[in-house]
Amino acid sequence: MASRNPAPQPYRGAKSPQDFVTEIGNVWIGLIERIASDPDQNEALAGYFGVEPGVIEEWIAVRGRTRCEATVGSGRRCANLVGLKVEYDPRIWAAERLRCVSHGPG
Ligand SMILES: [Zn+2]
Repeated sequence: MASRNPAPQPYRGAKSPQDFVTEIGNVWIGLIERIASDPDQNEALAGYFGVEPGVIEEWIAVRGRTRCEATVGSGRRCANLVGLKVEYDPRIWAAERLRCVSHGPG
């Protein structure tokens, strides 16, 4: 199968959101066990970190990668990821303000 991306950027982080949750458990020892009985994992993580469930949802969806903060088109946030850092603290992740090459720095 021919690849459309012959030179992908190196990425050593989680391959899927579920893998990322596993990594979160490796960083925050005891956390996964603590929320395991909760039917709503995002809600439980939000409560643990003291952030909105929407933040957790987006944080896991991008697997801790930094998302461009620019707003595009109809008020949606730019979907581009910035850099290769993986942030395992959603409070720090939510406060990150970076822009992709298309939207320039600040
Ligand atoms: Zn952007």
